Amino acid sequence: MVTDNDLQHLRRCLELAAEAIDAGDEPFGSVLVGADGTVLAEDRNRETSARDQTQHPEFALARWAATHLDADARAAATVYTSGEHCPMCAAAHGWVGLGRIVFASSSAQTSAWLSDLGVGPSPVRAIPIQEVAPGVAVEGPVPGLDDEVHELHRRYRLTR
Ligand SMILES: [Zn+2]
Repeated sequence: MVTDNDLQHLRRCLELAAEAIDAGDEPFGSVLVGADGTVLAEDRNRETSARDQTQHPEFALARWAATHLDADARAAATVYTSGEHCPMCAAAHGWVGLGRIVFASSSAQTSAWLSDLGVGPSPVRAIPIQEVAPGVAVEGPVPGLDDEVHELHRRYRLTR
C-alpha cells in the first residue's frame, strides 16, 4: 500500500526529475530513505551532462548504499523513484540487498510514452523489476503521479 509518507517522497522524486530537465538530462529522480524515515541520499539522471548512459539515479543510490550502509540498514531502506528501475538498476538494487521500491510510473508506461513521442526503441529491454530481482517488494505505478511523470517526459522531449 502506498501511504501519504510514500507520496511525499515520490513528490521529491518528481522534483528531482524536473531538475534533471533543467540540466539537460532525462527526467528521472530517486530518493533513498532509511528505516526510520530519514532521507539518506537522493539523485537524478545525469546521462547527458555526464556523457555516460549508465548515470541513472537508482544505480547511484545502490552504490551509495553499498558504501555507506550495512546489510541490515540496506534491507530496511526504501528506494522511491519517478520511473521504475531499468534492468541495470534493478540488478544493482538486488545485488546490494536494498529493500522496498516504490515507483510513480512503470517501465511499460515510459516505453509507451517515449514511443508516442517518436523516440526510438531503447537499447535495453524494459523488464519489470521483479523479473530481475525477485526478492524485492515493489509498488507502483501510482495513479495521478504517473500522469505528472508523463508530462515531464513530454516537456523534456520538447526541449530537444
Ligand atoms: Zn536504470
